[in-house]
Amino acid sequence: MQMSESKGVLVFSDDQNLAIEILGKAREIADKLQSELFVLVIGKGIEESAAALAKFGADKVFVVDNPALEHFQAESYLSILHNLVVNHKPEIVLLGSTKNGKPLAARLATKLDVGCIPDCARLSVDEGRRLVGERITYGGNAVAKVTFKTKPQVATVPSRAFDKPEPKERKGQLIKLDAKVEQSKLEVVETKPLETSNVRIEDASAIISCGRGLEKKEDKVLLDELSKVLCGQVGCSRPLAEDRKWFSEWVGLSGHKVKPKLYIACGISGVIQHVAGIRDSKVIVAINKDEQAPIFEMADYGVIGNLYEILPALKEAIRKQLQQ
Ligand SMILES: Cc1cc2nc3c(=O)[nH]c(=O)nc-3n(C[C@H](O)[C@H](O)[C@H](O)COP(=O)(O)OP(=O)(O)OC[C@H]3O[C@@H](n4cnc5c(N)ncnc54)[C@H](O)[C@@H]3O)c2cc1C
Repeated sequence: MQMSESKGVLVFSDDQNLAIEILGKAREIADKLQSELFVLVIGKGIEESAAALAKFGADKVFVVDNPALEHFQAESYLSILHNLVVNHKPEIVLLGSTKNGKPLAARLATKLDVGCIPDCARLSVDEGRRLVGERITYGGNAVAKVTFKTKPQVATVPSRAFDKPEPKERKGQLIKLDAKVEQSKLEVVETKPLETSNVRIEDASAIISCGRGLEKKEDKVLLDELSKVLCGQVGCSRPLAEDRKWFSEWVGLSGHKVKPKLYIACGISGVIQHVAGIRDSKVIVAINKDEQAPIFEMADYGVIGNLYEILPALKEAIRKQLQQ
């Protein structure tokens, strides 16, 4: 596609919350480029919720409302997105870094023969109207700044990279699109709900996480109790989920990236892969019996000691404080 031909910023995510988060940043970028902001919504019975996206900054909301597209389908979603890009020629396409969004972005970029930057934690535009994406690389040890030679510029954005914008009273244009539903080459054999708590850990304002310092699964009750007092959520390091299977999800580079007001790391050493997922937390408290543990280097407050003694004492102290 010719660089000069394309204009506008297009957003799509199969996760509506993430689409809204991306819209906030995309609006800033579109304003800087003096371009329009488009958002694509695909699904079943989604026209009303799609129209509401104008309040979050979209000038044009493209809707494909089709019962056959209630659930994500790689081929059909790709074909809809590709057609939209070819017909409307946005210079930037921002997709949600969900498990469906990442391969979708890679396939779209391949089909268009352009580049793709995955998992951008920051986005900006340089003097040449080029999108610049920043992403954590080398296992969390470095930040790579990447830009493009071709357009459209395709990038994916993870959850919580950008704050959700406040809705504003503004009108956008709703454009209904017809889409041919492709015959899927995949067959869904079984769908099982993921075992998760009701609240997304990314939305928690306080997270109490445990690592291999926790000796038994039953001891999780210590974290549950503290999290109750703080109205927070319990999280963990990867080994507790992957190796010990005590949890289904974890926090970190390969897990959830969180930015709560308070993150308490209990018995977590704080290696880079864990720290990469918590570095945007407002206050980090570390409880660890090893004073040399790397978590203390990035913690705002550190407690050197045994979590089995400190957690009950901390819970009591906070409870008393809250009662005053
Ligand atoms: C590609 C890749 C991706 C990864 N992604 C992630 C990720 O997203 N998230 C993640 O967490 N890890 C990730 N890991 C794993 C990571 O490298 C570490 O192995 C892991 O984070 C260590 O977990 P931990 O801190 O719980 O355990 P450890 O490193 O074993 O630390 C346990 C800590 O507990 C302390 N402790 C022990 N007993 C007590 C006690 N009673 N009271 C207080 N402190 C105590 C110890 O002093 C120690 O510091 C990844 C690894 C790879 C290779």
